[in-house]
Amino acid sequence: MQRVAVLGATGSIGTSALDVIARHPQAMRASVLAAGRQVEALLALCRTHRPEHAVIADPAAYPALRDGLRAAGLDTQAHAGAAALDALVAGDACDTVVAAIVGAAGLSSTLAAARAGKRLLLANKESLVLAGELLMREAHVHAATIIPIDSEHNAIFQCLADGNPPARITLTASGGPFRGWSGAALAAVTPAQAVAHPKWSMGPKISVDSATLMNKGLEVIEAHHLFAVPADAIRVLVHPQSLVHSLVDFTDGSSLAQLGLPDMRTALAVGLGWPRRIASGVGALDLLAQGGRLEFEAPDFEAFPCLALAFAALEAGGTAPAVLNAANEEAVSAFLQGRIGFLDIPDTVSATLDAMPPHAADSLETLLAADARARALAQARIAARGGQA
Ligand code: NAD
Ligand code: MG
Repeated sequence: MQRVAVLGATGSIGTSALDVIARHPQAMRASVLAAGRQVEALLALCRTHRPEHAVIADPAAYPALRDGLRAAGLDTQAHAGAAALDALVAGDACDTVVAAIVGAAGLSSTLAAARAGKRLLLANKESLVLAGELLMREAHVHAATIIPIDSEHNAIFQCLADGNPPARITLTASGGPFRGWSGAALAAVTPAQAVAHPKWSMGPKISVDSATLMNKGLEVIEAHHLFAVPADAIRVLVHPQSLVHSLVDFTDGSSLAQLGLPDMRTALAVGLGWPRRIASGVGALDLLAQGGRLEFEAPDFEAFPCLALAFAALEAGGTAPAVLNAANEEAVSAFLQGRIGFLDIPDTVSATLDAMPPHAADSLETLLAADARARALAQARIAARGGQA
């Protein structure tokens, strides 16, 4: 019996993971469920999946979790805080960890899973952007298996199954809700428009990242770490149908791609079952029913500067990707709260990168300090733009 910790259980990836796990009651079960602050949603999941442990990040929410579990007559143990989560992830309550907390908040538990040598289903791309070298090194040293849970990287993982190194990687991008828009039109977009993704149903932060193309930028950095490819061997191609999830070119001229409907349960089933193929609940791909066309176009680097900012941060190295990620998290949060406009997101990230010339990132402390400093600078910039906290 595979025992799975689902971190970010109440989110989009978390609920998809639980959907797949529940299809295989003989083979796997959710033993740990963790969420940020949504106690009622976490309690509802506990009633359905009956985990051994439930963790809420917000300590103030602990009494409500504990009392709710008791009132429901469940044996699930209640925990609160990041340290409790890290201990559960590292301990024998689970052998597989679905890392699906959003943002840099997911780094600590992701690192704990890597250091404990777990099978790590890694959706939390921000941890790779912030501390990719460190995370990959820890996973290697402690023999953790990382299976990427990002549709593009999961596709590449599948294409690389025979062990041959890639010559080049092509990440596909849907283009987001504003594909084809100009910079002037983008200035006025609202949070509601930005989170309405044409192809994928996702949490609010990654939806905004998809709209700015920062998501693809983060994915370029993610791919660099996961597959040890340099920035100049990674290309981005807009593919509005979102059916080809990425491509890998090999030295012999072959290109392999993975296709499927845009539903994250496929990637999660790959991660949970690998190397076996298991049912995910996702239907078979019917290309004719999907319109019979696969289209590709170059991304618009001018209207969507976040993509170029991410490439530049990867090339600069050191603390630059951590700064990029932290400034972006702050800017997206301010945008979602209506405090700044859409184009203030790339502006904030760019200004923060300019204000913090990259230096070597030789330790977790250095990276976390860069993350904290970048957040402070980004917040100051946001406040100066008129966005009050
Ligand atoms: P979401 O907003 O739907 O869910 C986020 C989850 O994280 C929630 O359960 C929330 O309670 C939890 N959380 C937030 N802060 C926390 C904290 N401090 N401690 C513990 N838990 C906390 O987000 P999502 O769309 O599911 O995305 C999760 C991650 O997966 C992100 O890193 C995202 O980039 C990545 N990802 C998502 C998709 C997708 O299709 N949704 C695809 C690829 C990658
Ligand atoms: Mg993706």
